[in-house]
Amino acid sequence: MNKAADIVTHDRFEYPELEKPTSVPLFQTSLFTFPDVEALRQGLADERSTHLYSRGNNPTVEAVEEKIAALEGGECAKLFSSGVAAIASAILSNVRAGDHIVIANDSYTWAQYISTTYLERFSVEATRVDATDLEAVEAAIKPNTKVLYLESPGTLYLRVQNLPALAALAKSRSITTIVDNTWATPLYQNPLSFGIDLVVHSASKYLGGHSDVIGGVVIGTRESIDHIFRTEFLPIGHVPDPFQAWLIHRGLRTLHVRLAYHYDSALTLCDFLSSHSAVERLYYPMFPLSEDYSLASSQMRGGSGLLSLRLKSRNRAKIEEAVNTFEHFRIGVSWGGYESLVFAPVATAHGDPSMLRLHVGLEDPLTLIDDLDRALVVL
Ligand SMILES: *Cc1c(COP(=O)(O)O)cnc(C)c1O
Repeated sequence: MNKAADIVTHDRFEYPELEKPTSVPLFQTSLFTFPDVEALRQGLADERSTHLYSRGNNPTVEAVEEKIAALEGGECAKLFSSGVAAIASAILSNVRAGDHIVIANDSYTWAQYISTTYLERFSVEATRVDATDLEAVEAAIKPNTKVLYLESPGTLYLRVQNLPALAALAKSRSITTIVDNTWATPLYQNPLSFGIDLVVHSASKYLGGHSDVIGGVVIGTRESIDHIFRTEFLPIGHVPDPFQAWLIHRGLRTLHVRLAYHYDSALTLCDFLSSHSAVERLYYPMFPLSEDYSLASSQMRGGSGLLSLRLKSRNRAKIEEAVNTFEHFRIGVSWGGYESLVFAPVATAHGDPSMLRLHVGLEDPLTLIDDLDRALVVL
């Protein structure tokens, strides 16, 4: 008889009924067990509403989904292992061979890759278009267009698309609209309220907020999310780990506090940058001097900490030297965490080398202005 084997494999642990923890419990479990065969039968028949296996549902993951759906004003949300998985699933669940997609040309790189290079293998065609131009979008629509994929503000130039007008145009042609709302977060923009069908986010940015987790989410009607659950989530398995979800849940607790600070600091930096002699153009739609401000402020209640600028200099070596001069803006690809970051397209093969993208973190904005002042002097 092996007593130790029984002790380590059998649980006497029961969840206490009276105590309520202040943080959401981490259900780090791959499966859930049933009291009898009939319960198993029912679970198998309706996996969508059962705790059967964590590739489908998990209570910690659901706690995040409920919070994000409520923030977006949507019926339902599904959390994914990454923003890209959420984007891919939202797109894939709405197309089949022979269909066509219209995608904004300043969308996140991998959303463009999925829509064009990836889906070409399955005979789905895509047209990239400047989605700030309503007529250009209309001209790109074909009889077989099934998806209009948007990201407002756009990924590098942060230009704003007219979401209510684009939603109405798509609706009149029975086209599903998807908006990447990562920049504004559900705190400052709710595309569903403009008639958009599906909203996607990278939770790796502000929703997590601490640069310690990757995740993504799709929000829509219960019917559309149930469809994505059945056609993409369950079969392909872009499942978020419960601990990933737990970290996102913890990050969400302070979303409103962090965002208000990022917004305020970004405006302070915009004031400084907009009159700086090294800067040719500033891209931050919620800055009152921005050409997009009136449209931006009709769609968004605030802004985040990400801004772009075009330098006057075209000297790649000097631009590289300026970026290397930063002490507080660290060089990196992501954003949305507590820390300030700079992304320099000069490091890429095809990017516009005169652009810089800055993430304004939670440091003192005056420290960041000093840092910018020192770096831009190089140019
Ligand atoms: C980072 C990002 C994504 C991709 O999200 P991951 O979590 O990195 O997969 C998608 N859209 C935008 C706008 C992003 O910034």
